Amino acid sequence: MQIIEDKVYAFSKDNPPCYTAQPGEVLQFNTLDCFSGRLTDETVTMKDMDFSYNITNPAAGPVYVEGAEVGDVLVVDIYDIQVADEGTIATDDHCGPLFEGTDYRTKKIKIEGGMADFNGVRFPINPMIGVIGVAPAGDPVNCGTPGSHGGNMDNTAITTGATLYFPVAVEGALFGCGDMHAAMGDGEISVSGAEVAGYATVTLTALPDLHLVDPLIENGTHLGIIASAESLDAAADRAVHEMVDLLHDRTGIDEAELVMLLSLVADVQVCQMVDPQKTVRFMVPKCALESLGFKL
Ligand code: CA
Ligand code: ZN
Repeated sequence: MQIIEDKVYAFSKDNPPCYTAQPGEVLQFNTLDCFSGRLTDETVTMKDMDFSYNITNPAAGPVYVEGAEVGDVLVVDIYDIQVADEGTIATDDHCGPLFEGTDYRTKKIKIEGGMADFNGVRFPINPMIGVIGVAPAGDPVNCGTPGSHGGNMDNTAITTGATLYFPVAVEGALFGCGDMHAAMGDGEISVSGAEVAGYATVTLTALPDLHLVDPLIENGTHLGIIASAESLDAAADRAVHEMVDLLHDRTGIDEAELVMLLSLVADVQVCQMVDPQKTVRFMVPKCALESLGFKL
């Protein structure tokens, strides 16, 4: 299995690929935590980090996918996510939108037997990938910012077993991922989850006949659009509109009928509300899609 360990700090069409993958080839992306491992113990806080050079949210990659053309969709199947046995959560003095005046603090979170331990509070882990995406057509986007190319979406649904679909904006797609979390709540209100090193095992394949504006996610039960914008409201608007357009285009069902059905069964869910753009997913149950005769 091919191991991908090179790191980038931006999704960019100008990043030289570190590997060229054949469609469907199994790849393992090894990543540091979002602090690049610099918060070595609880006495080291984000205040001690030197942000004058690239240090946060490294993504492993980029991988050039053979056959991926502009206008295609890159299909990313996530087979496995493994995380290290210790995570790190940190705050700063302007922690997210909610807590002006929080102080700088770092906590280590022990991970054992599928459980995390924060100050003696134990809860099941939910390993997920925070940063995942492809190169945008225009200017580079730093790995801390989400957008139509993916990036720092911090979506708790990006787990083992999920499939992601990204609009390909440059030849070869230039895929990368990193910023794994052992656990995180929707919203990620302190600006970090249980940030953790780890690896993800994925395959990458280009699909020509699906046209997307923003990333799509599919798992065993749901299909969702993931959209990022300046506010949660604007992100939700994007996600809902794009899902209605996708379902309308593929089934021909009247929009008002579709909107009523989605209002009954689909969920607007917050991914994160703390990054430079906020991210929302709009998740539709697949059983409803099957009833509509919808296929990707
Ligand atoms: Ca993140
Ligand atoms: Zn993170």
